[in-house]
Amino acid sequence: MIVTLERAADTDKVRAELAGLGLWVIPYRDDGGGVCYLVEAHSGAVTRERLAEIAGVASVAAPPSTHPLVDVQEATIEIAGRRIGAGEPTRLMAGPCSIESPEQIHTIAERIASEGATFLRGGAFKPRSSPYAFQGHGEQALGWIREAANAHSLKVVTEALGETTVDAVARHADLIQIGSRNMHNTSLLRAVAQTAKPVLLKRGMAATVEEWLLSGEYLLLHGAASVLFCERGIRGFDGQTRNLLDLSAVALLSHVHGLSVIVDPSHALGRRDLIVPLSRAALGAGAAGVLVETHDDPAAAFSDGPQALPPEAFHDLACAVVGPSSPALFE
Ligand code: PEP
Ligand code: MN
Repeated sequence: MIVTLERAADTDKVRAELAGLGLWVIPYRDDGGGVCYLVEAHSGAVTRERLAEIAGVASVAAPPSTHPLVDVQEATIEIAGRRIGAGEPTRLMAGPCSIESPEQIHTIAERIASEGATFLRGGAFKPRSSPYAFQGHGEQALGWIREAANAHSLKVVTEALGETTVDAVARHADLIQIGSRNMHNTSLLRAVAQTAKPVLLKRGMAATVEEWLLSGEYLLLHGAASVLFCERGIRGFDGQTRNLLDLSAVALLSHVHGLSVIVDPSHALGRRDLIVPLSRAALGAGAAGVLVETHDDPAAAFSDGPQALPPEAFHDLACAVVGPSSPALFE
């Protein structure tokens, strides 16, 4: 809260009274219009009315938000005719880490559609840690995933890795993914936003929630239709899982900020055996859907094989996330 003092106010007295209410008192701005304090509660809330009663206080206001467009985004968003968010069906987004061939993506599309998934994922441009690892089949793979999705009434989510390929990605994708490594890449955010498509914004692996929301603000400011936030795990200190899935952030975005947020347990864990329980936990925390990697033969996958769900395990996951497949979920 921002408390502005009257010109003649006894500042020491007002500060003491604010501190006595259990508030941190931070000098905010003195632009000649009077002394202002930003006050934050240590614990428990102090009402605006109580602050306004203090002798010497001229006005009490909420601080301006750093992400006003994110703040007013609706709790549910529409992506290519499919709604996602509070009160909507839980959405399952699935597919391989990399699009490996037309046959591979068609087979997976058919399988995930029959399990109730709404979105087909798969990377044509892969952000690999090693320059020697498979980098993706590039633009031709965008055509393969689009055709596979169309054949099974699925929507496409795929990553834009660099500015030069944003237009090609936008021509084929329903939802453009910004990967974890690019959450801070503001020129890519701008370029993707200018396509006016909805964007799936992964959280940077060392990004604060505020930085994540600010990247969302970049996207909305520069024209993105909407932003779907995706928690995929942040860097932890324990190597037993690839990352540390921050479900507090999921609850915060969903319940406090009223935003659509999904969870990617595959990249959070780096292993397939815990994906079902972690997905259940994510939905309990307020996630509107789950994004997972699946492969018909994980041992032969071009990338991220250890975390890919083989068909039987994917079936179990789909039952946990969307329930036994029903035609309504294809709508
Ligand atoms: C991906 O989804 O393919 C991916 C590379 O994920 P992340 O950006 O979360 O590492
Ligand atoms: Mn992957």
